[in-house]
Amino acid sequence: MKKLSTLAVALLAIVGLAACSSPSKDTKSDTSKLSVVTTNSIIADMTKNIAGDKIDLHSIVPVGQDPHEYEPLPEDVKKTSNADLIFYNGINLETGGNAWFTKLVKNANKVADKDYFAVSDGVEIIYLEGEDEKGKEDPHAWLNLENGMIYAQNIAKQLIAKDPKNKETYEKNLAIYLEKLATLDKEAKEKFNNIPAEKKMIVTSEGCFKYFSKAYQVPSAYIWEINTEEEGTPDQIKHLVEKLRETKVSALFVESSVDDRPMKTVSKDTNIPIYAKIFTDSVAEEGEEGDSYYAMMKWNLDKIAEGLAK
Ligand SMILES: [Zn+2]
Repeated sequence: MKKLSTLAVALLAIVGLAACSSPSKDTKSDTSKLSVVTTNSIIADMTKNIAGDKIDLHSIVPVGQDPHEYEPLPEDVKKTSNADLIFYNGINLETGGNAWFTKLVKNANKVADKDYFAVSDGVEIIYLEGEDEKGKEDPHAWLNLENGMIYAQNIAKQLIAKDPKNKETYEKNLAIYLEKLATLDKEAKEKFNNIPAEKKMIVTSEGCFKYFSKAYQVPSAYIWEINTEEEGTPDQIKHLVEKLRETKVSALFVESSVDDRPMKTVSKDTNIPIYAKIFTDSVAEEGEEGDSYYAMMKWNLDKIAEGLAK
C-alpha cells in the first residue's frame, strides 16, 4: 500500500511537471512564430532559404504536381485562413485556369497586398503567343535566375514587414542566397556558348521556357503552350514534329510535373531521344537531385547543356 501511494505521488508529480513546463512552453513559442503559406514547392524553398526556422511554413501544391490547376484540401483552406502571410507566384499561374488561388483567398477572407503577395512583383513579364492565350501573362518567370532573385527579395521584404524582430536573420540569409543564385546565373549565361545554332533548342511538353530562353539565349519549342490548355492533342504533336524535322536537335526533355506520354510520342515520331527529366513547375522530391530551387535550376542547366551537345 505504501509502495503504491509513493508511485502515485511520483506519477502525479511527473504529470504536473509535464503539464506546466515543456509542452506549454513549446506551444507558446510556436504561436509566436509567423505562420506562412506558399502556393508551391519552388516558392516554399525560397522562403525556407530566407526564413530558416523563424516561421511555420505550409506549402499547398505537393512536390511533382501541377501548380496551374489544383484543388486545395481542407488543410490548405484552414492553414490559409490562419496564415499571417501568403506568397503566390501570380502572373497567370495559380490565378489562371480554374483560378484555384483566387477562390481560396476569397473564401479565407484574405486581402491582396496586405495578407497575400505575388512574389513575381517587379519582373519583366513575357506574354503568351497562342491564339487562345494571347495577351495573358506567361507565369514561368522563375526559370530566369535573375527573376528568382527578385522573388527572393520580395519574400524577404514581406517577412521583415510582418516580423521585424527577425529582420537581421532575414537580411543575412537573403544576402547569402542572392549571392548563390547570382553565381549560378553567371555560369548559366556562358553555358550554351559552344552549342551550334542548329542544335540549340530546348524542347519540352509545356512551353515554359520563354523566360529561360530570353535570359540564356537558347530558343525553345513545345507541344502545348501552357498547362491550362489541352495537353498533347494530335495537332499539337504534329506541329512540333514538323518543326523538329527542320532542325538538328538531338535531345528532348520532359518535365517532372506533366504526363510524359505526349513527349514519348514526339520522340517516337522524330527518333530524337528524351534525354532527361527536368524540373520546371516543381522542385524534386526531398533527397533527390533538384530538390530545391537552386538545385533544380542547376540540374536543368547541366542536363540541357549536356543533351544539346550530343
Ligand atoms: Zn507551367
